[in-house]
Amino acid sequence: MTDMTEGWTGLPMAHYKAWRRVFNEMFTAHELSRAAACPLCGKGTLYRAFALQGPEIHRRLDGELYRGHGQVWEWCDNCRTFDHTGHTLVPDWARPHTVPPETGSRDPSAVIPLLPGFGDATTPADGE
Ligand SMILES: [Zn+2]
Repeated sequence: MTDMTEGWTGLPMAHYKAWRRVFNEMFTAHELSRAAACPLCGKGTLYRAFALQGPEIHRRLDGELYRGHGQVWEWCDNCRTFDHTGHTLVPDWARPHTVPPETGSRDPSAVIPLLPGFGDATTPADGE
């Protein structure tokens, strides 16, 4: 039995630059896990999920279209390293998830159950 709330480790500062480089370079990648390797463990098991907070504003900033303000979780499903930002801009391409505000969870255990097909092989291929 797997407890989703156990075993998460916040991103160590020593790996911050490498982590940011991977996620920033893959800024518009929907399927990170197939495009990039985790800077900590080297596995291609990186994920990212957004949640919107407040209204959709659809504003362009530095050439990128943003959907609104929200939170972002980034994590590696293999070594269970994660990073969380509570105030960020949600890109327009993202399909943000609705996270119950009372969760207050910084690790991705609150968003993982919301991802369609996460952890199984039946994820539908919708679009590119
Ligand atoms: Zn990893």
